[in-house]
Amino acid sequence: MLAEDIHKSFGNLEVLKGVTVSARRHDVISILGSSGSGKSTLLRCINMLEPPDKGRVVVGGEEIAMTVRDGRAEPADRRQVERLRTRLAMVFQQFNLWSHMTALENVIEAPVHVLGVPRREAVERARALLAKVGVTGREDHYPAMLSGGQQQRVAIARALAMEPDVMLFDEPTSALDPELVGEVLKVMRDLAEEGRTMLVVTHEMGFARDVSTGVVFLHEGRVLEQGTPSEVFDTPASERFRQFIGGR
Ligand code: ADP
Ligand code: MG
Repeated sequence: MLAEDIHKSFGNLEVLKGVTVSARRHDVISILGSSGSGKSTLLRCINMLEPPDKGRVVVGGEEIAMTVRDGRAEPADRRQVERLRTRLAMVFQQFNLWSHMTALENVIEAPVHVLGVPRREAVERARALLAKVGVTGREDHYPAMLSGGQQQRVAIARALAMEPDVMLFDEPTSALDPELVGEVLKVMRDLAEEGRTMLVVTHEMGFARDVSTGVVFLHEGRVLEQGTPSEVFDTPASERFRQFIGGR
C-alpha cells in the first residue's frame, strides 16, 4: 500500500500538505500526531472517502485512477473504488456497528451482500472470527448490549471477515474506558503477529513502540518523523516529536 504526496484542503484549510506513507505486506505502521494534524483525513484519502486533491494511492499494486471534474479531483472509476474498499477494511473510533443488527449479523453483512459469500459459510466464518477476537456466547447480542471493548472487537471481526489486504484503524481505543483498552490492543497485537498489514492511527505509545514495524508522526499536515520505532522514539529528528512524547 502506498499513499504518495497526498494533498487535501477543505476550503482554505490545507490539512494534508504532501504526505507519503507506505506499508509493505506484514507492516504495521503507527500514525501518530496531535488532534487536528490530519490523521483521519489521511485514512479517508487512502480509502477515497475523501478524494485527495493531489497524490497517488496504490493498493495491491493497483493505482486508483483519478480525474478532475469541475476543478475537483475524484476517482475516475467508481467500480475501482468499490473494489479498493473491499481490500481496505476500516475500524473506527466509534465502532460504527449497525445498531439494529446482532454481532453475528454485523460480521456476515458485507461478506454476504458485497462478496456474495453463501450465508451458511459466512455464518460459520463469522463465528470463528468472533471467537478469535474473544466474543463468544454473544453472537446474538445487539451492540447496545455489549461493552465498548466487545463492540470494538466485533468491529474488528467484521473488518477481518472481508479478508482485507490492509486494515486501517482510526484511534480504535480512544473511545474506550481505560479498563477496556487492553483487550482491544491485545486483539490488534495478535493481528500484527499474524502478519496482517495494518495502518493504525493511535495515541497508544506502547503499541506504536512495541508492535509496529514503522512509525509516522504527522504535524500540521506534514510528516515530521518516519522510521522504525527505535529510530523515531530513540533518536527523534524533531523537537516537536520530543514534546509530543514528553507530554504523555
Ligand atoms: P486528526 O484525525 O489528526 O485529529 P483530522 O484529519 O480529523 O485530524 O482533521 C484535520 C483538520 O481538518 C481539522 O482542522 C479538521 O477540523 C479539518 N477537517 C477534517 N475533515 C473536514 C471536513 N470534512 N470539512 C472541513 N474540515 C475538515
Ligand atoms: Mg482523527
